[in-house]
Amino acid sequence: MKLFAIFGDPVAHSRSPLMHNSVFEHLHVNACYTRVHLHNGARLKETFFALKLSGANVTVPHKEAAFKACDEVRGFAKKIGVVNTLINENGKLIGYNTDADGFLYAIAPFQPIQSVLVLGAGGTAKALVNKFIDEGLNVSVLNRSHGRLDYFKALGVATYTWESMPQQPFDLIVNTTSAGLSDNEYPAPVELLEPLIAACNFCADAIYGKVTPFLALAQQHHKVSKDGADMLLGQGVLAASLFLEHAFNNEQIETQMKKSFLL
Ligand code: NDP
Repeated sequence: MKLFAIFGDPVAHSRSPLMHNSVFEHLHVNACYTRVHLHNGARLKETFFALKLSGANVTVPHKEAAFKACDEVRGFAKKIGVVNTLINENGKLIGYNTDADGFLYAIAPFQPIQSVLVLGAGGTAKALVNKFIDEGLNVSVLNRSHGRLDYFKALGVATYTWESMPQQPFDLIVNTTSAGLSDNEYPAPVELLEPLIAACNFCADAIYGKVTPFLALAQQHHKVSKDGADMLLGQGVLAASLFLEHAFNNEQIETQMKKSFLL
């Protein structure tokens, strides 16, 4: 039996085991998917091989550590330095990123979108901002601190902290911060955030399974909005396709994975 896992800290909230086990069960794949609470990202690689994993997903805060741990990084992950999917390929650790395409799948019904404000500047923001630039969108990034904004400045993106952010309209606002994940915080001060939300058309949160303060504000303003569940599904389908070595098509995987969302 092949063993897969998700690494994170925290990781207890993750729905990935349910999603992937649903696929394995219904497609009759002899495999099991579990979760690993990992405090120290530097121990990712040794833990992966000690557990004899065939593959894994990586969540907050270890995606950049996962990139560093890989023997080889492929595709979009190489461009952004962020890995969320690991494959054991003949004893070598191969890294991929399926988050950004998963998010594009999630926001496909949000049309038209030309301008996006991304809240947060971590691994998820890197993936989404690069994908949005590839899609020809006009992107701005707002983060609570300066440190991580240099990466985005170098991409030619407008970057702001809470102190420098002007009020301007965006088609879409995306929360990629972890504010609201295990606390009840807004991703930016509410007096800054509320007028930005009031002036936008669509809101999306990467956090799933709860109405974060950000999403609650979007709903109060009657914005078309969604949490991170569809993003989770989108990235999960693409990761499962890698785990299953493309033996099934994405529609087959999606059908089985969606069943876990009813549990
Ligand atoms: P990172 O740790 O890489 O980045 C976190 C970002 O959030 C940083 O920019 C940080 O700012 C900011 N931040 C953290 N706490 C606060 C706060 N209280 N107020 C304002 N800003 C804050 O995280 P990831 O990018 O890996 O993940 C971010 C979120 O996205 C997580 O909640 C994760 O669960 C979710 N996610 C969901 C997915 C899905 O499939 N639905 C996929 C991927 C991620 P600073 O730089 O100042 O520290």
